[in-house]
Amino acid sequence: MLEIKNLVVKIEDNQILNGLNLTVNDGEVAAIMGPNGSGKSTLSYVIAGKEDYEVLDGEILLDGVNVLEMAPDERAAAGLFLAFQYPLEIAGVGTMTFLKACINAQRRAREEGEISTPDFIRKVNAAADKLEINKEMLKRALNVGFSGGEKKRMEILQMALLEPKFCVLDETDSGLDIDALRIVSEGVNALREKGRSFLVITHYQRLLNHIVPDTVHVMSKGQIVKTGGKELALELEQSGYADYRSEAA
Ligand code: ADP
Ligand code: MG
Ligand code: MG
Repeated sequence: MLEIKNLVVKIEDNQILNGLNLTVNDGEVAAIMGPNGSGKSTLSYVIAGKEDYEVLDGEILLDGVNVLEMAPDERAAAGLFLAFQYPLEIAGVGTMTFLKACINAQRRAREEGEISTPDFIRKVNAAADKLEINKEMLKRALNVGFSGGEKKRMEILQMALLEPKFCVLDETDSGLDIDALRIVSEGVNALREKGRSFLVITHYQRLLNHIVPDTVHVMSKGQIVKTGGKELALELEQSGYADYRSEAA
């Protein structure tokens, strides 16, 4: 489903990704683990199309189409979704207004009509119930004053509503207590199905007790330096990242 070939990326004179290769199959949950500063967030931003990153070489193919040639909104319409490590607070933008605008932007890009208000409310309520999101939160401005856990649940709510093909979760576990971790993980697990794949980025192993990955990749210095099954996450928990820090140098 997603194939990254020889991705080389720099930002402000620093080369961060150094010929990264990664394949994620249909229905697969792939985890990327790695020390701080190894380029995990950079990879997720480049997949989503954030500006400021200069792609010097390589391809990111979603179902065979190079998304690097697409604008961020076109990528979203094609089924890419990024849940941020640090969701932004957007004062003045109502959460419901934002969610409806996201859904309608995607539908317009696919030449479908806008969602009706009753259908939208039903859809949001069902997803919010599943993620144990307090409906009062939905009446507030997007993420403004939300706790860390509430912000992450809001990211997963957006993911559930947009029904993406390929989901990137960047350190969704950071800032979550154990209850929020369970709720967010259950939300993700409920969305696991054929036709949808996940790239779960994390520094710690504990998220992967809840979202059990099919494959685990270790990232170091802007490259994937090791790939294995879910047991690789447990090994890393034991050994730490010390073995990997210099491997890609
Ligand atoms: P990770 O998510 O694995 O912790 P990041 O992708 O956030 O790593 O960062 C990788 C490297 O890129 C770090 O050395 C970081 O300092 C650098 N970096 C990230 N963003 C910028 C930026 N805007 N300008 C310069 N360097 C950056
Ligand atoms: Mg980091
Ligand atoms: Mg990061």
